[in-house]
Amino acid sequence: MLDPALLSQFPRVRLIEGATPIQRLARLEQVLPAQQKGVSIWAKRDDLMELGGGGNKLRKLEFLLGQATAEGCDTVVVTGGVQSNFARLAAAACARTGLACEVVLSQMVPRHSEIYRANGNVVLDRLFGARVHILEAGDDAGGFVARRASEIAASGRKAFVATLGGSTPVGAMGYIDCAFEIAAQSAEMGIAFDQIVIPNGSGGMHAGLVAGAVVAGRDPSRIRAHTVLSAADACVIATADKVNAVLELLSKKDRIKPENLQISGMQLGGGYGIPTAAMVEAVRIVGRSEGLLLDPVYGGKAFAGLLCDIEDGVIAQGSNVLFVMTGGSPGLFAYADALNGN
Ligand SMILES: *Cc1c(COP(=O)(O)O)cnc(C)c1O
Repeated sequence: MLDPALLSQFPRVRLIEGATPIQRLARLEQVLPAQQKGVSIWAKRDDLMELGGGGNKLRKLEFLLGQATAEGCDTVVVTGGVQSNFARLAAAACARTGLACEVVLSQMVPRHSEIYRANGNVVLDRLFGARVHILEAGDDAGGFVARRASEIAASGRKAFVATLGGSTPVGAMGYIDCAFEIAAQSAEMGIAFDQIVIPNGSGGMHAGLVAGAVVAGRDPSRIRAHTVLSAADACVIATADKVNAVLELLSKKDRIKPENLQISGMQLGGGYGIPTAAMVEAVRIVGRSEGLLLDPVYGGKAFAGLLCDIEDGVIAQGSNVLFVMTGGSPGLFAYADALNGN
């Protein structure tokens, strides 16, 4: 059984109030072409949180800032791509918590236009008071962060250096909590979700949801991820390792094997942050039918995967599918060139 007390051993800073809603995308179901109909599609609105524009990183940050505070840190250093949602939400969460924040943004994506470098999440990082360092292609982000951390120490402060995407076992606790939340909502609604569809970037969300399923004695392959960062085979191995590290941190004896995970590489396209036609199509259809925002790097690609899976029969007719909307809408503004036009 899921025991909420499981997580109480970890220090936590509250950033999210209450459960995020689960909503049926009924208008979308109506407008889909015939070959993509016949499945009930629900959205878990993890984009709908009151802090910093919302998004999946806030769940991880509750535990990461809990850890940082417990370790006596007063400054959080975050790395990511230029349009990192984690950097934006860390900046907002630090503002709320009274911590200093530095974000180290590296050129993870081959996009160098002015709007990509200066719009979207970057505007918000600065607005939330973070100190922003934008590295050039080829710069060593790890080395830069280590140097900044020692400079911060030399000035009498103490830095907490966050892992890429916040995907440590501690960060993943946020998605164990979300697994509990989904199970409770599903029971309350009287709807069993046959598949839970998510993007997998740095793998922490997937690892937390799968660890939550394992703890609850449920089949982890019910969670279907579309990798948007690494190749599928590498992603499966890295995510399985993360799940097992989470289970170990929870003192659970269960372990999973890579083959227990469902990860598809079909939506990766040219790689991380590189737009695909299917992503643009998915962002548009959800926008035009529901007035909701998917993001161009994660949700757009994962939703394209969901539609493709319905068409291919990977998701069976008559199923209830829960798509986790993870936020990231500020990134849309940095991709205006890919999204404008009809
Ligand atoms: C980071 C992120 C993800 C992926 O989560 P991981 O834990 O890194 O796999 C998905 N969607 C959005 C909007 C994100 O910012």
